Amino acid sequence: MTQEIEKQKINNKTTLVLKFGGSSVADQECIERISKIAIKEATQHNVVIVVSAMGKTTNGLVDMANKISPNVRGRELDMLLATGELVSISLCAMCIERMGHPAISLTGWQAGFITESSHNKARIAEIKTEKIKKNLEANKIVVIAGFQGITEDGEVTTLGRGGSDTSAVAIAAALNAERCDIYTDVDGIYTTDPRIEKKASKLECISHEEMLELASLGAKVLHPRSVELAKKYDVDLRVRSSFAPDTQGTKVISLKRIKDMELTKAVTGVALDENQAWIGMMNVPDTPGIVSKIFTALSDKNISVDMIIQSVPVDGINDVAFTVPKDDLKPALAICTELQTEMKGIKIVSDSNVAKVSIVGAGMINRSGIASKLFQILSTENINIQMIATSEIKISCVIDPKDSHKAVQAIHKAFELDLSSEPILA
Ligand code: ASP
Ligand code: MG
Repeated sequence: MTQEIEKQKINNKTTLVLKFGGSSVADQECIERISKIAIKEATQHNVVIVVSAMGKTTNGLVDMANKISPNVRGRELDMLLATGELVSISLCAMCIERMGHPAISLTGWQAGFITESSHNKARIAEIKTEKIKKNLEANKIVVIAGFQGITEDGEVTTLGRGGSDTSAVAIAAALNAERCDIYTDVDGIYTTDPRIEKKASKLECISHEEMLELASLGAKVLHPRSVELAKKYDVDLRVRSSFAPDTQGTKVISLKRIKDMELTKAVTGVALDENQAWIGMMNVPDTPGIVSKIFTALSDKNISVDMIIQSVPVDGINDVAFTVPKDDLKPALAICTELQTEMKGIKIVSDSNVAKVSIVGAGMINRSGIASKLFQILSTENINIQMIATSEIKISCVIDPKDSHKAVQAIHKAFELDLSSEPILA
């Protein structure tokens, strides 16, 4: 048995954090639906709700800003974007009170979210939870604006698009909550995108580690930063639907608690990312410091690189290839072209028309033959592999996007993902 840290109690009850995304608070009907969920949970727990802006409000605000000043960033954009969540917290609190339960809305700064100072993508530095706790002690449902905080200097910040998942997990960690339920418009995490493979099955349980790989690989249900935080502070998550609150959803828990990996399948899920591009730099001099120069230049411009491949040196030269998000291809190519003037003889090639298909599974650890099986499946389907990268629990292949759905379907079938596997909990 894994030792459980005792959960903090207020008024003799543990706390639940419920996060509702934009689609779950899109209109009055939605707000009434989620208010009922919160009130029901409040019979047994202290309840903290974290909400996003209603529907596509944040996109609308970004569009408005761009009309006034194209590509605006920084302080004033944060001031604008932070307003979206203020509308939803106040409406939710009003609705809960009307339904007969005491509630209070808190902005990110009132709730004590202190962030670092970088605008538009601020990281949470700490949460001063006194005000939240005081309101829970007073038996109120506390409705907090996700995605926003304040710097030590009193400047309003936002956490980056999709950031309210991160707000919710952070508050669950800070309150040592029982768990954090992420309510969205799908009813859980699936073995793959059900729009691509109809036989995709809902997972009952998945580890933070696997979820992190799937989240970063483009399974859009949870924001990767929130899963990272959940893993770091061992926060139990549950992904569930606000439209079908009585269905089970998917638990996302620590790998340590998924016992007896031998009994689970090698592969938990198949992810497809159609938002990647690759750049190849050929004839790179095989001397120390070159690769560091390339990737430092990219990271200085905040371009995140995923797969990196370097070939063996021949005649004092190497080939280096890597993938970047499609949106970053242009700035990344500009950086490489700049380096080209410094390093004579380098040739640059790129392709923005690629797809990355990946298998993820904690059950791959210490199991052999998984990579060869994956390559065999792709070869049987006559799909060419352009690049390969692996980690302990993931294998990714870059392929032509015209083959991507066929690949996902064939892999899903061959690894028997349409039959549900039931991990055993400690
Ligand atoms: N409203 C913000 C956004 O749309 C934050 C969130 O929804 O998580 O990006
Ligand atoms: Mg949103």
